[in-house]
Formats: sequence, structure tokens, C-alpha cells
Amino acid sequence: MKKPYYITLTIPYVNAVPHIGYALEAIQGDTMARYQRLLGKNVHFVYGTDENSLKNVQAALRAGEDVKSFVDRHAAAFERLHDILNLSNDSFIRTTEARHIAGAQKLWQMCNPDDIYKKTYKGLYCIGCESFYAKDDLIQGLCPEHNTAPEDIEEENYFFKLSKYQPQLEQIFLTDTVRVVPEGRKNEMMSFIKRGLEDFSISRSVERAHGWGVPVPGDGSQIMYVWFDALTNYLSVLDFDTDGKNYSTYWLQPNQTPREVVHVLGKGVSRFHLIYWLGMLLSANIPLPTEEFVHGYITVNGQKMSKSLGNVLDPSAIVDLYGQEPFRYYMLAGVSAYQDGDFSDERFKEIYASDLANGIGNLTSRVMTMLIKYNKGVVPKAASNIFDIEGFWKQYRKQMEDFAFHDVIHNIQTLVTACDATISADRPWEKAEQGLHVGDTLYRVAEGLRHIALALLPIMPHASGAIFSVLGLSPKNIKTLDRECVWGLLLEGTPVKKPEPLFPRL
Ligand SMILES: [Zn+2]
Repeated sequence: MKKPYYITLTIPYVNAVPHIGYALEAIQGDTMARYQRLLGKNVHFVYGTDENSLKNVQAALRAGEDVKSFVDRHAAAFERLHDILNLSNDSFIRTTEARHIAGAQKLWQMCNPDDIYKKTYKGLYCIGCESFYAKDDLIQGLCPEHNTAPEDIEEENYFFKLSKYQPQLEQIFLTDTVRVVPEGRKNEMMSFIKRGLEDFSISRSVERAHGWGVPVPGDGSQIMYVWFDALTNYLSVLDFDTDGKNYSTYWLQPNQTPREVVHVLGKGVSRFHLIYWLGMLLSANIPLPTEEFVHGYITVNGQKMSKSLGNVLDPSAIVDLYGQEPFRYYMLAGVSAYQDGDFSDERFKEIYASDLANGIGNLTSRVMTMLIKYNKGVVPKAASNIFDIEGFWKQYRKQMEDFAFHDVIHNIQTLVTACDATISADRPWEKAEQGLHVGDTLYRVAEGLRHIALALLPIMPHASGAIFSVLGLSPKNIKTLDRECVWGLLLEGTPVKKPEPLFPRL
């Protein structure tokens, strides 16, 4: 039986259309999902939209629109990322769906009853952040994120007894029971836990929520705090409410065969995912995820994206301009998976030229032209591997397991360079003219190119398929990485094709 692998993206607010920060996460998650499928696992990849946030209500009010039609419109824009970015997600969840509402209420009711209690809360609340601030966290009395004065709020809320789980959470990170990538993010959480965990509010009054959100079971005066409801999407998308088949297949079940449950998230929400979420699951006695990957933020031309600066980039506009796969490539190659990264047209064009047009695209065209010109358009007799292909795949797997996409790309480009260098050193065009044997050189670079195409499959599936197809192979016949990663699978006599330019110069 194929090993189950469940991978999720965070669900963004739908108070605006998607920007490239979310595209970064989506492309990283999709690349991992495709890689895991290549390993032969039973992958389930999901994302969705967080629609119960007060931010959505406010944005709808500002736009003079009915909240439901406002969130419908924006949710559709996020769902379209599936096509725009070629996401291979298996499901999509909207937190206004009945299965989500029922799932969130079920989790609430599964929490240990001692862990949820009511108390009067008084504090400074920023509506933009949907969170309370301590006086010390404000900058001249204003929210550090929004530059607005928080509201003084006093009301009865439900609280979750997070403090009780402090020792358990500490132990979880000490023993890597939940693996956090990169390591630095784990250390941040450890020091946050060590400062002492406080109970947190998990509901708000119906009035403050404008009646929008998931009702607290058994209490008509309260709506779930948006974070409590939003995090449960990772269960509700699997039909947790009805104990659906996807839930038992993809979420860890006690005493069952091991499987992987992986969350992909941005650094700004790591506390919610690594502490609050795990606390909630512990309370409900539901097995924890196995891995959480935390990526950085993306800036545009070195500046933080913001509406006021007018530099919020729409991924579909970039895709229209440069193409879907070059954009996917840039988000993995031009941005470190672990740190903050930058998007600029200038850098995009640089990477496009060096890695795609002059790199992968040019190598493909060189190899195919030579096979057609000097070997009658067929694959020559097999020749030995001179590229340390075993070492290449060992590194590739390790880098993928570590979500180190920038290193994956570097590794692939090193192989592209090695193939180019082989051609330059062997000079097959001179040898062919002198009637000398060029088959070994041609086989090596053609087989090298096949390995490059295989490595690119999770990153740029179309370009990868195009390379396979000019090499006379059908992308549909690609089996698992284990099967495909050995040297010498290109068969002598296979007819090759003349390639269309893969990455035309901009
Ligand atoms: Zn704020």
C-alpha cells in the first residue's frame, strides 16, 4: 500500500485578491506535493480560504458589498490559483462550508472540557490583527502592523487553557516529535514557550463578530475566535465532521501505520501553528502533525508589500507577462525557502536568462540539434556515467526533504553546467567533421538531460514533460523516482524530436 502523505497550505483571508506572498507558499507546497507523488506516496494536497475573519466583514462593509457575495468573489480568485500556478491540489476548503463549520464545532466539543472556560476579558484589541496587544507591544500607542489605535474592549469570552500544555509542548520540540523546518523557527518557539504560555481567548461576542463566523456549540452569544476555527480547516477539509474516508486515510490515527502530515506556513503565523494548534489537538486527543515547514516573507524591489505603497503584486499578472513555469521557477530559485526573499523584474529577467534561456533551454536545444545532425536523430549506444548521478540524486532527495528548494535548483544547475562543459570539452561538431566517434558524448549529455528533466518534474512539470518528449519518452510513463533515477534508461535507437524553444529570450 502506498504511504499516505498529507500536505496543507495556510488558508488566507479573502479580504483582497491573492498576492505573490501567498503564491510563494502555494508553489513551495505544490512542489513538495509533486515530489512526494514522484516518490510513489499517496499524496493529498489541500488549500482553501479563511472566510470567517472580521477583516472580511470590514472589507465588505468598506466596499459596500454584502459579506457573502464579497467573500464568494474573493474565494473564487484564490481557487483560480489552481490554474494560474498549476497547483496539483486534491481539495479546496472554504471555512463558510457546512463541513467546516461542523468540523470546527466538533473539535471544540472534543477538547477536554476542563480546558475551555469563560472569563471576562479586558484588553487593547486591534481589529486589523484580530488580536489583543499588551501596552508594551504598541508603538506610541498604535498597532505596530497597522499604525492604528487599538480599541479598549471588555467582554466575556471563552478561554483555552494553553498554560496546561506548556511542559508537553516543550517536550514535543525537544524530541522533534513534530519536526520544524528550518531549525531556527523551532528555537524561536522554544524560547517563546520558555517565557511562559498564557491561556488565550477562543471566542468573541456575536456583536463584535457582526454575527459572522462559527457559532460556539451550546452558547448563542458567542462566535469562535477566527484562529480557532481557521486552524481546524486542516481536519475539516478531510471530512472530519463525518469521520470521512479522507480523515482516516490522511490524518494520523492512534495505533496505525505511520503517515506524514505536513503543514506549510509563513513565519508570521508560526505561533498559531506550532503552539496554539498543537495545544488544541493535544486537548482533543487527536494525533499531531509530523512536520511543519515555515517560510519567510517576500518583498518587492526590497520593500515590504503594502496597499499604501501600491506595490502589491498580483501573481496572475506576472504569469501573464513571463509565463507560469518561469514564475514557479523564480519563486524557488530566486527566493531562499528559509529566509525573506525579494521579487524584482530585474532579478527575474537575470535568472530567466541565466538559468532558463541560456541554461536548461539552450542545453536542450544543443543536445537535440547534435543528435539530429550527428546521430541520425536517434539515441546512440549507451555510454558510462561521468556526472556522479548517484551523488546528484542523493543531494536532491536530502534538499527536498529539507524544503531547501533554492539548493535543489542549485544542484540541478550544476548538472546543466556539467553537461554544457562536456559538450564544450569534447567538441563533437569538430570530431564529427573528422569522421570520429561522437556517440559517447552525445549519449552522456542526452542521458544527463533526462535526469535534469526528471529533477525538474515537481518544479516545472510542463517544461519537464517537453524535455522527456523530445528525448522520445512519454512523460505519462514516468514511474517512481527510485525507478527513474538510475543511469542508462535512454535506449539506443529511440528517435528524438527537434525541440520548440523551451524558454524564448525575453
Ligand atoms: Zn494591527
